Amino acid sequence: MKKLLLILVALVLVSCKSSYLSSKKSAVLLDINQEKDDNTFVNLKNYSRDFVFDMKYATADNFLKEQVYPCDECFLRVKTIKALLQANQAFIEKGYRIKLYDCYRPLAIQKKMWKIVPNPTYVANPKKGSIHNKGGAVDITLVDSLGVELNMGTGFDFFGPEAGHNYTDLSAEILANRQLLKSIMLQYNFKSFDSEWWHYNLNNSATDEVSNLKWRCED
Ligand SMILES: [Zn+2]
Repeated sequence: MKKLLLILVALVLVSCKSSYLSSKKSAVLLDINQEKDDNTFVNLKNYSRDFVFDMKYATADNFLKEQVYPCDECFLRVKTIKALLQANQAFIEKGYRIKLYDCYRPLAIQKKMWKIVPNPTYVANPKKGSIHNKGGAVDITLVDSLGVELNMGTGFDFFGPEAGHNYTDLSAEILANRQLLKSIMLQYNFKSFDSEWWHYNLNNSATDEVSNLKWRCED
Protein backbone atom coordinates (compact mmCIF):
# COMPACT_ATOMS: atom_id res chain seq x y z
CA MET A 1 0.00 0.00 0.00
CA LYS A 2 2.78 2.38 1.03
CA LYS A 3 4.64 1.53 -2.15
CA LEU A 4 1.56 2.26 -4.24
CA LEU A 5 1.13 5.62 -2.49
CA LEU A 6 4.76 6.52 -3.20
CA ILE A 7 4.34 5.65 -6.87
CA LEU A 8 1.19 7.78 -7.03
CA VAL A 9 2.96 10.76 -5.42
CA ALA A 10 5.87 10.36 -7.85
CA LEU A 11 3.48 10.25 -10.81
CA VAL A 12 1.69 13.41 -9.67
CA LEU A 13 5.03 15.18 -9.21
CA VAL A 14 6.25 14.16 -12.66
CA SER A 15 3.01 15.20 -14.35
CA CYS A 16 3.00 18.59 -12.55
CA LYS A 17 6.55 19.21 -13.64
CA SER A 18 5.93 18.34 -17.26
CA SER A 19 2.68 20.27 -17.70
CA TYR A 20 4.20 23.66 -16.86
CA LEU A 21 6.89 25.76 -18.47
CA SER A 22 9.21 27.44 -16.00
CA SER A 23 9.32 31.21 -16.19
CA LYS A 24 12.21 31.40 -13.75
CA LYS A 25 14.82 33.74 -15.28
CA SER A 26 18.49 32.99 -15.51
CA ALA A 27 20.70 35.48 -13.60
CA VAL A 28 22.84 35.94 -16.71
CA LEU A 29 21.89 35.98 -20.36
CA LEU A 30 22.13 32.56 -21.98
CA ASP A 31 23.47 31.78 -25.45
CA ILE A 32 20.77 30.31 -27.68
CA ASN A 33 23.44 28.52 -29.74
CA GLN A 34 24.34 26.44 -26.68
CA GLU A 35 20.86 24.90 -26.65
CA LYS A 36 21.11 21.33 -27.90
CA ASP A 37 17.53 20.76 -29.00
CA ASP A 38 16.03 23.14 -31.57
CA ASN A 39 12.51 22.07 -30.62
CA THR A 40 12.60 22.79 -26.87
CA PHE A 41 10.40 25.57 -25.55
CA VAL A 42 12.45 28.32 -23.88
CA ASN A 43 11.83 31.85 -22.63
CA LEU A 44 13.09 34.61 -24.95
CA LYS A 45 13.81 36.82 -21.91
CA ASN A 46 16.71 34.51 -21.00
CA TYR A 47 18.51 35.14 -24.30
CA SER A 48 18.25 38.84 -25.03
CA ARG A 49 17.45 42.22 -23.49
CA ASP A 50 17.02 43.85 -26.90
CA PHE A 51 13.28 43.26 -27.34
CA VAL A 52 10.34 45.29 -26.09
CA PHE A 53 7.60 43.18 -24.49
CA ASP A 54 3.95 44.17 -24.67
CA MET A 55 2.29 40.80 -24.20
CA LYS A 56 -1.33 41.72 -24.82
CA TYR A 57 -2.86 38.51 -23.47
CA ALA A 58 -1.15 39.04 -20.12
CA THR A 59 -3.40 42.12 -19.81
CA ALA A 60 -7.10 42.72 -20.44
CA ASP A 61 -6.17 44.96 -23.41
CA ASN A 62 -7.02 42.41 -26.12
CA PHE A 63 -10.07 41.25 -28.07
CA LEU A 64 -10.91 38.67 -25.40
CA LYS A 65 -11.20 41.61 -22.95
CA GLU A 66 -9.65 39.40 -20.34
CA GLN A 67 -6.17 38.54 -19.03
CA VAL A 68 -5.57 34.97 -20.19
CA TYR A 69 -1.82 34.63 -19.48
CA PRO A 70 -0.69 34.72 -15.84
CA CYS A 71 2.30 36.95 -16.67
CA ASP A 72 4.13 38.46 -19.63
CA GLU A 73 6.47 35.70 -20.75
CA CYS A 74 7.46 34.92 -24.33
CA PHE A 75 8.04 31.20 -24.84
CA LEU A 76 9.06 29.86 -28.26
CA ARG A 77 10.93 26.89 -29.65
CA VAL A 78 14.72 27.32 -29.70
CA LYS A 79 14.79 27.43 -33.52
CA THR A 80 12.21 30.25 -33.57
CA ILE A 81 14.25 32.27 -31.09
CA LYS A 82 17.43 31.75 -33.12
CA ALA A 83 15.76 33.29 -36.19
CA LEU A 84 14.09 36.06 -34.17
CA LEU A 85 17.38 37.12 -32.54
CA GLN A 86 18.96 37.47 -35.97
CA ALA A 87 16.02 39.45 -37.33
CA ASN A 88 16.08 41.79 -34.31
CA GLN A 89 19.81 42.37 -34.80
CA ALA A 90 19.13 43.41 -38.40
CA PHE A 91 16.43 45.85 -37.20
CA ILE A 92 18.76 47.25 -34.51
CA GLU A 93 21.35 48.00 -37.19
CA LYS A 94 18.67 50.11 -38.88
CA GLY A 95 17.73 51.94 -35.65
CA TYR A 96 14.67 49.86 -34.71
CA ARG A 97 13.81 46.87 -32.58
CA ILE A 98 11.04 44.30 -32.31
CA LYS A 99 8.15 44.76 -29.91
CA LEU A 100 6.31 41.52 -29.14
CA TYR A 101 2.56 41.19 -28.64
CA ASP A 102 2.32 37.39 -28.54
CA CYS A 103 4.54 34.31 -28.77
CA TYR A 104 3.68 30.72 -27.81
CA ARG A 105 0.00 30.38 -26.97
CA PRO A 106 -1.41 27.32 -25.17
CA LEU A 107 -4.09 25.42 -27.11
CA ALA A 108 -6.68 26.12 -24.38
CA ILE A 109 -6.38 29.86 -25.13
CA GLN A 110 -6.77 29.17 -28.86
CA LYS A 111 -10.11 27.48 -28.12
CA LYS A 112 -11.22 30.54 -26.17
CA MET A 113 -10.29 32.82 -29.09
CA TRP A 114 -12.08 30.61 -31.62
CA LYS A 115 -15.28 30.82 -29.59
CA ILE A 116 -15.24 34.61 -29.91
CA VAL A 117 -13.95 34.84 -33.51
CA PRO A 118 -14.72 31.58 -35.39
CA ASN A 119 -13.24 32.96 -38.62
CA PRO A 120 -10.06 31.31 -39.98
CA THR A 121 -9.04 34.54 -41.71
CA TYR A 122 -8.27 35.93 -38.26
CA VAL A 123 -8.11 33.06 -35.75
CA ALA A 124 -6.85 29.54 -36.47
CA ASN A 125 -9.29 26.73 -35.80
CA PRO A 126 -8.06 24.93 -32.64
CA LYS A 127 -8.83 21.58 -34.31
CA LYS A 128 -5.85 22.18 -36.56
CA GLY A 129 -4.03 24.50 -34.16
CA SER A 130 -2.33 27.82 -34.76
CA ILE A 131 1.42 28.06 -35.34
CA HIS A 132 1.29 30.04 -32.06
CA ASN A 133 0.25 26.77 -30.38
CA LYS A 134 3.33 25.14 -31.95
CA GLY A 135 5.87 27.71 -30.71
CA GLY A 136 6.69 28.92 -34.23
CA ALA A 137 4.71 32.18 -34.52
CA VAL A 138 5.14 35.71 -33.21
CA ASP A 139 2.93 38.79 -33.29
CA ILE A 140 5.19 41.80 -33.55
CA THR A 141 5.67 45.40 -34.54
CA LEU A 142 8.67 47.74 -34.65
CA VAL A 143 9.64 50.56 -32.32
CA ASP A 144 12.16 53.33 -32.98
CA SER A 145 15.16 54.23 -30.80
CA LEU A 146 12.82 56.08 -28.39
CA GLY A 147 10.54 53.06 -28.06
CA VAL A 148 7.77 54.63 -30.14
CA GLU A 149 5.80 52.18 -32.30
CA LEU A 150 5.99 52.71 -36.05
CA ASN A 151 2.65 53.50 -37.67
CA MET A 152 1.36 50.26 -39.21
CA GLY A 153 -2.07 51.61 -40.14
CA THR A 154 -4.11 49.55 -37.68
CA GLY A 155 -3.62 48.34 -34.15
CA PHE A 156 -2.74 44.76 -33.22
CA ASP A 157 -5.64 42.28 -33.60
CA PHE A 158 -7.62 44.62 -35.81
CA PHE A 159 -9.91 42.18 -37.60
CA GLY A 160 -10.59 43.88 -40.91
CA PRO A 161 -9.14 44.15 -44.44
CA GLU A 162 -7.04 47.22 -43.50
CA ALA A 163 -4.77 44.92 -41.45
CA GLY A 164 -3.93 42.78 -44.49
CA HIS A 165 -0.75 42.88 -46.57
CA ASN A 166 -2.79 43.22 -49.75
CA TYR A 167 -4.55 46.37 -48.55
CA THR A 168 -2.69 49.25 -50.14
CA ASP A 169 -5.01 52.22 -49.60
CA LEU A 170 -2.64 53.48 -46.90
CA SER A 171 -0.07 56.27 -46.66
CA ALA A 172 3.38 55.78 -48.17
CA GLU A 173 4.81 55.87 -44.64
CA ILE A 174 2.58 53.04 -43.40
CA LEU A 175 3.30 50.93 -46.46
CA ALA A 176 7.03 51.50 -46.00
CA ASN A 177 6.84 50.53 -42.32
CA ARG A 178 5.00 47.30 -43.10
CA GLN A 179 7.47 46.58 -45.88
CA LEU A 180 10.44 47.13 -43.56
CA LEU A 181 9.02 44.65 -41.03
CA LYS A 182 8.17 42.12 -43.71
CA SER A 183 11.38 42.29 -45.72
CA ILE A 184 13.67 41.61 -42.75
CA MET A 185 11.43 38.91 -41.28
CA LEU A 186 11.34 37.09 -44.62
CA GLN A 187 15.10 37.39 -44.87
CA TYR A 188 15.46 35.59 -41.51
CA ASN A 189 13.36 32.52 -42.23
CA PHE A 190 9.88 33.75 -41.36
CA LYS A 191 6.85 34.04 -43.59
CA SER A 192 4.08 36.60 -43.41
CA PHE A 193 0.36 35.98 -43.02
CA ASP A 194 -1.85 37.74 -45.59
CA SER A 195 -4.57 39.08 -43.30
CA GLU A 196 -2.42 40.28 -40.36
CA TRP A 197 0.59 42.60 -40.75
CA TRP A 198 1.82 41.67 -37.24
CA HIS A 199 1.88 37.86 -37.58
CA TYR A 200 4.97 35.89 -38.67
CA ASN A 201 5.48 32.11 -38.82
CA LEU A 202 8.84 30.40 -38.79
CA ASN A 203 9.21 28.50 -42.08
CA ASN A 204 8.45 24.77 -41.84
CA SER A 205 6.93 25.02 -38.37
CA ALA A 206 3.43 23.91 -39.41
CA THR A 207 4.29 20.24 -38.90
CA ASP A 208 5.44 20.76 -35.30
CA GLU A 209 3.22 19.48 -32.52
CA VAL A 210 0.53 21.60 -30.93
CA SER A 211 1.22 22.17 -27.25
CA ASN A 212 -0.96 23.06 -24.29
CA LEU A 213 1.71 23.83 -21.69
CA LYS A 214 0.92 26.61 -19.22
CA TRP A 215 3.46 28.63 -17.32
CA ARG A 216 3.83 29.75 -13.75
CA CYS A 217 5.03 33.21 -12.84
CA GLU A 218 8.46 33.13 -11.21
CA ASP A 219 11.29 35.67 -11.49
ZN1 LIG B 1 -0.41 35.77 -34.56
